[in-house]
Amino acid sequence: MQSQMIKKYKKVVVKIGSNSIVDSKTKKIKSKWLDYLCKDIAELNKTKKIVIVCSGAIALGAKSISNTKLRKLEDKQAAASVGQIELAHQWRNKLGKYKIGVSQILLTLEDSEERRRYLNARNTISSLQSKNIIPIINENDTVATEEIRYGDNDRLAARVAQMIEADLLILLSDIDGLYQGNPKKDKDIKKISEVFKIDKKIEKLGNYQSSELGSGGIATKILAAKICAGNGCATIITNSDKNKPISNIDKKNSTIFYPLTSTNSSKKKWLLNHLKPSGSIIIDTGAKNAILKNKSLLPAGVIDIKGRFKRGDVISILVKNGQKIAIGISAYDFNDAKKIIGKKSEEIYKVLGFEGRDEVVHKDNLVRLSA
Ligand code: GLU
Repeated sequence: MQSQMIKKYKKVVVKIGSNSIVDSKTKKIKSKWLDYLCKDIAELNKTKKIVIVCSGAIALGAKSISNTKLRKLEDKQAAASVGQIELAHQWRNKLGKYKIGVSQILLTLEDSEERRRYLNARNTISSLQSKNIIPIINENDTVATEEIRYGDNDRLAARVAQMIEADLLILLSDIDGLYQGNPKKDKDIKKISEVFKIDKKIEKLGNYQSSELGSGGIATKILAAKICAGNGCATIITNSDKNKPISNIDKKNSTIFYPLTSTNSSKKKWLLNHLKPSGSIIIDTGAKNAILKNKSLLPAGVIDIKGRFKRGDVISILVKNGQKIAIGISAYDFNDAKKIIGKKSEEIYKVLGFEGRDEVVHKDNLVRLSA
């Protein structure tokens, strides 16, 4: 029997946290639990398109690298490369019993933040889905360095949900959902079962809880839900600690974040949820007003350039006091952008020696942030 709460959704990303799939004492796969989960997934797979984002590689491989807690990045990377094989093996065996094929996809931050790679990954997933193969995704921890890591699979899962235009993200975790405080410290604290808008008050609740084996806590889950909400995708946080953790989802054991309705194009949604802009452009009041009226950013309104970005990179647009008002794709690299600061568009040729675009950021490549 499917959970009533998830019946209507058609494209679902299921994210499984390290604590859910790896036993915190033995550091081994929770095999029985995974059997139940696969039963659920096989059932869902009959009527929905499913993508799985699964953590646990580092936790599973940790023992082979050290007997104590892993601290150095290279140890975690090494552990991930050991644990990832085990993860893939488990999924293949267990979903294989239902004659469901699986594939492994390892992504780095750049794969979702660089538009060409993002579209490429999207096509691969879509090709697998057309063959009824379930992609099992994890971060490519072995090559991801500190600067280019998601670090947590919650946001990775949200970007994957956006990539495939999912309508539901399920975050299976070691907590029932979002609480009004810290449930480990205060037994009477209430769980919130529905969130319609992720405002500052909701975001603040992220400070309270964290989990033991994985890197995310409730804060990264709220962030993930926020990314999804802006993309028309609902998010459910629920405790994995029940047999058949998906078919047993109900209001009592979960929190659902509803999506917002948005009129942004898919490119603008992608921009809006970009996790790591490569630099920033500081603008004057005239340019700010133009952007607020949905116009392009011209060099005349630029007052400073920060960071070493390339042409085509995503950059933040800030006003003088540091407030970020928009995000966009730069038509110039940082060197050329610096040279044309404050210039009129007609002067670009003279300054740069080639005919560039009139705009530093064209309005089609720019999205305003709400205050
Ligand atoms: N990618 C990490 C792993 O597989 C998990 C990251 C997280 O905890 O969300 O171990």
